[in-house]
Amino acid sequence: MTEKIYEAARLLKKSNFTTAFTGAGISVESGIPPFRGDGGLWNKYNPEVLEIGYFLNNPAISWQVIKDIFYDFFDSAKPNKAHHVLARMELEGLLGRVITQNIDNLHQEAGSRMVYEFHGNSKTLVCRGCNRSYKAADISFDYTPLTCRECGGLLKPDFVFFGESIPQIPLNAAYEAATISDIFLIIGTTGEVMPANQFPAIAKTHGSTIIEINPEPSLYTNVITDIFIQGKAGEMMERLENALFSTPLDNDQDCVN
Ligand code: NAD
Repeated sequence: MTEKIYEAARLLKKSNFTTAFTGAGISVESGIPPFRGDGGLWNKYNPEVLEIGYFLNNPAISWQVIKDIFYDFFDSAKPNKAHHVLARMELEGLLGRVITQNIDNLHQEAGSRMVYEFHGNSKTLVCRGCNRSYKAADISFDYTPLTCRECGGLLKPDFVFFGESIPQIPLNAAYEAATISDIFLIIGTTGEVMPANQFPAIAKTHGSTIIEINPEPSLYTNVITDIFIQGKAGEMMERLENALFSTPLDNDQDCVN
C-alpha cells in the first residue's frame, strides 16, 4: 500500500492538471452515510422518495424522509481529513478542480474553491411556485412539507432529484476536466450513478491516469483504474498528504508543480 501511495504522490507532483472526482464515500468519515453498500441509506429508505414525479405527487411523504436523511444530521457534519487534503492540494497547485456528486457542501467548507457540484447542494431550497430561494439554515423544518413564505408553493431542496437533468455548468466542467486532466483521482464512489459515472472513463480515453481510493472495489477498479488505494478516504488521503508534502520523493527535480 505504501508503495502505491508513493507512486500516486510522484504522479500527482508531475501532473499538469489533476481532477478529483468524489462521491458519497468521501463524507462517510464525516458521519454522512452513503446511499449504497454497508450502512447505506437505501437499506433503510425507498429511493423513490427522491424521484421528482413522486416528490411532486407525494410531498408530505417525500419531505419526511428528505428531512430525516439530509437535514437532521447533515448540518452537524464537518469536513474530514480527505476534504482538507484536497483543499490543501488545490492551494499548493496540485489540484485543478473537484467534481463532486455530493450535495453536502463539505468540500467548500474545507476550503476548496474550484468545486463543481454535479447534483446541486442541499443547503439551498427553491420554491416550485415563484422560484424564490431560501437558505436551509434560515428555515424551520418542524412542519413538513415545507412551503414558501411568499406564495405558499412547495419548497424543494436545490439538489438534483432522480428524473431531473444535470445543471449545464458542472456538466461542462466535468467534460472539460475529463479531456484535459493528466490524473483523475476518484474517491468514494461506486460509479453507479449516471451520467456522472461516465467522466472517469472519458478521462481515461483522453489519456488520464486513474487513481482510486475506496475501501471496496467499484465499477471502475478492475476496468479503468491504474492505481487502486484500498482504504478509507480520510486515512488514505492523510498518508497521501504525508507523501506529497513531508517526504522528498524520487525524481522530485523533474516535477513541474
Ligand atoms: P454510493 O452511496 O453509491 O457509494 C458509496 C461509495 O463510497 C462506495 O463505493 C463505498 O465503498 C465507498 N465508501 C464507503 N465508505 C468510504 C470511506 N470511508 N472512504 C471512501 N469511500 C468509502 O455513492 P456515490 O457513488 O457517490 O453515489 C450516490 C449518489 O448519492 C451521489 O450521486 C450523491 O449525490 C448522493 N449522496 C450524497 C451524499 C453526500 O452528499 N454526502 C450522501 C449520500 C448520497
